[in-house]
Amino acid sequence: MKSKIMVTRASMPPMEEYMEEIKSMWDSHWLTNMGPKHNLLQKELVRYLKTDNVELVVNGHMAIEMTLQAMGLRGEVITTPFTFASTTHAIVRSGLMPVFCDINPDDYTIDPDRLASLLTSKTCAILPVHVYGNICNIEAIDDFAKRHGLKVIYDAAHTFGETYKGRGVACFGDASCFSFHATKVFNSIEGGCVCYRDDEVGERIYDLKDFGIHGPEEVSAIGANAKMNEFCAAMGLCNLRHIEEYISARKKVCVRYDENLEGIKGLKLNRIPKEVKSNYAYYPVVFDKKSFGTDRDQVFEKLYENGIMARKYFYPATNDFTCYKGRFDNNDTPVARYISESVLTLPVYPELELKEVDRICSIIKECVCG
Ligand SMILES: *Cc1c(COP(=O)(O)O)cnc(C)c1O
Repeated sequence: MKSKIMVTRASMPPMEEYMEEIKSMWDSHWLTNMGPKHNLLQKELVRYLKTDNVELVVNGHMAIEMTLQAMGLRGEVITTPFTFASTTHAIVRSGLMPVFCDINPDDYTIDPDRLASLLTSKTCAILPVHVYGNICNIEAIDDFAKRHGLKVIYDAAHTFGETYKGRGVACFGDASCFSFHATKVFNSIEGGCVCYRDDEVGERIYDLKDFGIHGPEEVSAIGANAKMNEFCAAMGLCNLRHIEEYISARKKVCVRYDENLEGIKGLKLNRIPKEVKSNYAYYPVVFDKKSFGTDRDQVFEKLYENGIMARKYFYPATNDFTCYKGRFDNNDTPVARYISESVLTLPVYPELELKEVDRICSIIKECVCG
């Protein structure tokens, strides 16, 4: 029996390298609270993400929640239902109302032409997601937000290290939130960061991540605890040294999928525009039942029987979650609904062998005739 192929596999540096990185902690006993590893990773990320301001946090979800709270937002936030649970939950958990904008069928990101119809006197912000590493229509979104005085917070969990027209993806909007979860292109086991424009927002995020403590006898804000610890920061430092290897190995996998699957009727592959330097985070394929002959769920089953764990990512759309039953209507966003019912993300990780990619593709091709 062959071992299973998972949809992803956490990237890890050589064990000796991590051991070397954490060694000093047995002298210092400094395990968390903005220690030397934390501060060095923060500095390295400013450089790597080509941005000015980075605040490290405990995970990507808290990055989004704390950014919404740091901006003092009230009212409605226009967002996408075609995302991970975190994006929508962060809005709701911050006492804000998500207003779902449909996505465009080409790159699965928020459709800026629909923003105007969702605008009300209560709208305070837009929270778009760079889905699968596909960068949103930044110009249109930022232009709309400027005209209507709205904040823009990008969920950039899928776009670590990407650039758009040569600029770091974190340079756009008022803030961008990244996740360094084990399953992401870059991981610090668990972790995340906020890249922000306004220094005041940065200061409030810092307050939120460390109880609002400003000195041994000074607590000046009502904060929580969302600090990144030194072991996670050390993992981040090691993985960052290898990030270009990880991304180029992922690229080879994605190119191999393209070569195998290009031109098959009824399959829609992901296109990377010329202006984007991709990180090859995911390999989504949309199966159009009518022209492909087999629906997404049947392909999923067929792969599963062969030990290949593709993922229905994102399914269901967040406005169709059980916890939001009766509050939102998935029929309001028909494109997101269709894509969530038709998409599979195929396995991608640096060590995935190209002959396994070929095998996955031949199983998919066998599905053509139903
Ligand atoms: C992973 C992810 C998050 C949450 O990040 P965590 O680090 O797991 O908390 C948020 N949004 C999207 C789109 C993600 O993929």
